[in-house]
Amino acid sequence: MTALLVAYIGVLGLAIGSFLNVVAYRVPAGETLLRESRCPACEARIRWWQNVPVLSWLGLRGRCASCGTGIPIRYPLIELATGVAFALVALWWLHEPDAAVTPVTARLAVLAAYLWFAASGVVLIVIDLAVRRLPHAITGTALAACGALLTLACALGADWQTLLRAGLGAAGLFAFYWMLRAIRPDGMGGGDVRLAAVCGLMLGWIGWMPLLVGAFAAFVFGGVFGVALMLRRRAGRRTAIAFGPWIVVGAWVGVVAGEALGTGYLTIAGVS
Ligand SMILES: [Zn+2]
Repeated sequence: MTALLVAYIGVLGLAIGSFLNVVAYRVPAGETLLRESRCPACEARIRWWQNVPVLSWLGLRGRCASCGTGIPIRYPLIELATGVAFALVALWWLHEPDAAVTPVTARLAVLAAYLWFAASGVVLIVIDLAVRRLPHAITGTALAACGALLTLACALGADWQTLLRAGLGAAGLFAFYWMLRAIRPDGMGGGDVRLAAVCGLMLGWIGWMPLLVGAFAAFVFGGVFGVALMLRRRAGRRTAIAFGPWIVVGAWVGVVAGEALGTGYLTIAGVS
């Protein structure tokens, strides 16, 4: 049963990943999502059997069926990454500590919120790395959708105090990043601030410790990566490094392992 659910949600992730490829390509360009897919080189319509996640790319050997133009490997990779991310979210969700005391309908709303969060994270990482932007259309939608789904979960029987903590997490991380941006406007973008609010919401829902660990982890990863780049002389101290990916990765470390890491740290530090 568990394996079946994880596999099913993983396959759903592959399909969503296929959609995220379209989002990552069209949203920064300001194009509509409601248009059939065409080959960017020869304008040939992409048929459904050419649009099966990962398999079509393998079957077509990474080339357009009409004109033979290469299809970048990032397409199947993003599909695969989303599939894996969804399967991992399902696995984490099945082992949530509150599973026993919350009605299953409420838990499904929570699952939907974290899947939305995962999909948004994947597409934001891709866009930030490609064009150094975190479009408001995606961060704002994620905040609204995840907020609505978590509120729905409470209406269906989850604890309202959890939602309050999530709201405080969102406001807290928003304020923190807003302050960083006020101090160093060239270091953070407005997109980073909005993304931090989404991460604060999802981390706060899980607990205070995951919120702290998730927020801290972003700077650990971003800092280590930045120093590594400087050592390889790829980046000067003034080169802006896309920080969005680290906010997302840090948040997921907080979601999955925040409680364990935080408690472990406190034990080592001799606080508890
Ligand atoms: Zn073509």
